[in-house]
Amino acid sequence: MSSIADNIGSVTRRIQKATLQAGREPGAVHLLAVSKTRPAEDIREAVAAGQTAFGENYLQEALDKIETLSDLPDIEWHFIGPIQSNKTRQIASAFDWVHSVDRLKIARRLSEQRESDQPPLNICIQININNEDTKAGCTLDALPELARDIGELPNIALRGLMAIPDPDQPEADLRLSFRQLANALRELKHSFPEAGPLDTLSMGMSGDMELAVAEGSTWVRVGTAIFGKRPAKD
Ligand SMILES: *Cc1c(COP(=O)(O)O)cnc(C)c1O
Repeated sequence: MSSIADNIGSVTRRIQKATLQAGREPGAVHLLAVSKTRPAEDIREAVAAGQTAFGENYLQEALDKIETLSDLPDIEWHFIGPIQSNKTRQIASAFDWVHSVDRLKIARRLSEQRESDQPPLNICIQININNEDTKAGCTLDALPELARDIGELPNIALRGLMAIPDPDQPEADLRLSFRQLANALRELKHSFPEAGPLDTLSMGMSGDMELAVAEGSTWVRVGTAIFGKRPAKD
């Protein structure tokens, strides 16, 4: 079995190759290592290999790891899972980024609960790009109003959009989903330039990162290709 360091190396090369092929600037795409269900020791190994940004889905599990790894000063923590409104306080204080905001109530609470000595919380609005019943996310129709309202919150930096397209659709449709997300971000920047930096497209995972990079992803969220297959839990 290959090591976490080897896997980070090969994922990094996949991203670099796709970035180059798309004619995009080197370094335009960041790697978020999705460490959900993985022990803190795996994260330590990834950090030793130079990885700094980690994505977590389950709050309690994440808080335990953040605590365990508090001796490593430079980790950037990203929350990418479903958010219950009674958990926003801990998310607001422990994380640097939240990719999975899909309603105003959650964004308002995150803004109110962000500690005053912390920089603004970076957030992405999650879009249910294929309108799947089982998936979280705001619809593209509801996006402009939500982005405008979130843009007015004081302790939030609205960085962009996130989506998890249906992985079982044909490649052409998957690519179209990524393109629709990129177009939605472009339209937002045009309509609400004051809403935030709007410089982020969080899209692409282990199986489809090249397609996402071709369509403009700036953060790929990669779990399996770095840490191996997860237990059945999710
Ligand atoms: C688990 C997860 C990932 C990583 O998926 P892999 O296929 O293991 O790379 C990315 N994004 C989100 C939101 C996830 O929940």
